[in-house]
Amino acid sequence: MRIKCEMDIINRLLPSLNVKKGGKGCHTQLSIGRKPQTDSKEGILFLMACTAKDRNGAKYQIKDNIEQIFAKFINEGKATIRLKDPQQDLCLCKADPLQLKNFLTLLRKASLGQDIERISLSTLAPASTKSVDKPKTKMSVTSKKNYPLTKSFPSLLEHLHISQCRMKKIDSRIFQLKKLIHLDLQENVIEELPPTFSQLTSLRELILSTNKIQTLPSSLCLLPNWKETLSLLDLSNNLINLLPIQLCELDNLVTLKVDHNKLETFPPTIGRLKKLKYLSASHNKIETLPCSFMQLRLEHLDLFSNPFADVTKSDLEETEWQVPSLVECCGRMIRKNRLPYSDEDLHTHLCRYLDSARVCWCGGFCFEGCVRAMTSFSLKTLSPTVSAVDLQGRTDVPVLLFLCSPQCQRKYKINPYAYWR
Ligand SMILES: [Zn+2]
Repeated sequence: MRIKCEMDIINRLLPSLNVKKGGKGCHTQLSIGRKPQTDSKEGILFLMACTAKDRNGAKYQIKDNIEQIFAKFINEGKATIRLKDPQQDLCLCKADPLQLKNFLTLLRKASLGQDIERISLSTLAPASTKSVDKPKTKMSVTSKKNYPLTKSFPSLLEHLHISQCRMKKIDSRIFQLKKLIHLDLQENVIEELPPTFSQLTSLRELILSTNKIQTLPSSLCLLPNWKETLSLLDLSNNLINLLPIQLCELDNLVTLKVDHNKLETFPPTIGRLKKLKYLSASHNKIETLPCSFMQLRLEHLDLFSNPFADVTKSDLEETEWQVPSLVECCGRMIRKNRLPYSDEDLHTHLCRYLDSARVCWCGGFCFEGCVRAMTSFSLKTLSPTVSAVDLQGRTDVPVLLFLCSPQCQRKYKINPYAYWR
């Protein structure tokens, strides 16, 4: 019987005043086995703890030597074994909960001297290096010849970096890595992003810069793991010309990099990214910004080298207001109440219609039944460290805004500057 976990040993004789000393858990292989003895037929049961530093392992007698087993947090893979002699507490964590349960049951039985013959015990041989080495959590592959083709990826990887491997499709084995937090696939030739990203439930940082990606699928932005945990998305140096409106549903996105793409604008609801702090979109084809952009509160903003239009004064279209169409009314309500929709519920044509919603300054949505206005806005109000959009030091950019009703149009005419408050 053998388990792997992290173990910290606390000596109860030390006057620690119940303060746990800052000892760090050490990757350990624990086994229960019998040590052969010369005088009796059956050996005595021992608990053996092998670490990378001590592969021969410390051995503790089991029978009548376990004072208590603390297993309140066994479902989190944690437990403490209190020994009588030596007066030590073995604090276990990061164990597989099921294995730990079986192990502790066996240990309890053995300590009471119950019969455990039917269970296969381990030999108390020194542990192999492989079994006590810390599991690999970081991996970096920077050339094709080092790419693991026959070997599998270590299953506990948290950080994976694969670059310059000319990977065209993301290796499906990567999606099996449940613990992966940081995935860096820059400098490959990836063209498409598969829906299997949903399997990476721990993913927080995704770097896909310098690839050949043309679209960011909207369905990815609606995946629960992307919506709830993704905080960094780097898509710079790709071929993207449009970001899906669903990008604005990534509630925990802090950093977004889309430099060197073919973007013409941002999604009209980009202001919804309340946690966004770092945004860079230099070297794109952005001519105007949507007005919700002004709701962002950023720490860093870079929009250098975009062909922003020149706007000298506020420019408002004059229109005759018509009664809005039924489809417009429905669309406004769906978007206002943030009802989810997908190609499965609605005709694709209607989905694209809903995606095309414009946001009025009142926060309402509108489609065709609106007027547009163009105004100029200083980026300095958004971020203290804004860089100029061109070499002349310009920080004023044109903002395209839409007004959903005659009331909003009237208010805008009276005081355009109130728009930003
Ligand atoms: Zn309005």
